[in-house]
Amino acid sequence: MKRILSYFILFLVFASWPLKAQENTFKVIPLGVKGGLDESNLSAYLLAPTASKNYICLDAGTVYAGIAKAISNGVFSKSPEYILKNNIKAYLISHAHLDHVSGLIINAPADSPKDIYSSQYVINVFKNNYFTWQSWANFANEGEKPQLNTYHYKVLETQKEVALKNTELYIRPFTLSHSNPYKSLAFLIRFRNSYILYLGDTGSDKIEKSDKLDRLWKAVSPLIKTKQLKAIFIEVSFPNSQSNTKLFGHLKPSLFYDEINALAKYTGIQALNNFPIIITHRKPHKNNEAIIKEELLENNKLKLNLIFPKQGELLKF
Ligand SMILES: [Zn+2]
Ligand SMILES: [Zn+2]
Repeated sequence: MKRILSYFILFLVFASWPLKAQENTFKVIPLGVKGGLDESNLSAYLLAPTASKNYICLDAGTVYAGIAKAISNGVFSKSPEYILKNNIKAYLISHAHLDHVSGLIINAPADSPKDIYSSQYVINVFKNNYFTWQSWANFANEGEKPQLNTYHYKVLETQKEVALKNTELYIRPFTLSHSNPYKSLAFLIRFRNSYILYLGDTGSDKIEKSDKLDRLWKAVSPLIKTKQLKAIFIEVSFPNSQSNTKLFGHLKPSLFYDEINALAKYTGIQALNNFPIIITHRKPHKNNEAIIKEELLENNKLKLNLIFPKQGELLKF
């Protein structure tokens, strides 16, 4: 009997082995995590399949300083310029606010040819305001002449999945409301059968008088139930003390949880237990970053796995 019992225990150990050894699908290197003020640390996230060196850059507020930080952390071993030119294969821009694009613009003279993916709405801002000969130079393939052709604009259509050139990844964009009627994007990124969801700046449906987040939650909820969605990147810019009339199209902890509860209506509560949610875009005025973190952790009734990313520190999902 004892022997049978010990065989049974051995069987249990081995049966649970594949779960423990389960490999991560995606790696993410935050190049910048803040929602303002510190220009060396603004929204930008490199993402690739775990075994790949072909990264996409989700927003590009800070690029060079973030790569330099990742190098000093031992995440990369080559120079920042080498990584910029060879490992960033495409930019995905949620919206054209400067805290999401300034790193791309400043580093354009040192960059290699690649695509910038976004909505027509955002690409028009690049074309008419940033890549012009009065504000900088036209590093793109459309707009003012001469065109330096480093970047090729690729217009995304809402909800339509496309392959990202020179990568193993696919994306499907969703529209977000970022101080109605201003628009931002969320990107559902796919590698084989696994997904990551990255949201650009967004207000809550209640404050924006919108249904954009509700539509997004409905669309991704089946992927959470099947555990194909590995993580969600979402902003929380202000602490709860920020008045609802001064949110400028952003979330605060109470509104973040309103949205998580809206998501939970589609997924069920259990599916969100320990689900990784990466909090982006905290605005660093005064002690706000610490207050936002505290307010989120204190009210984490669904036991989400809340992650507060640090610049240049590798994350795996
Ligand atoms: Zn922003
Ligand atoms: Zn913004």
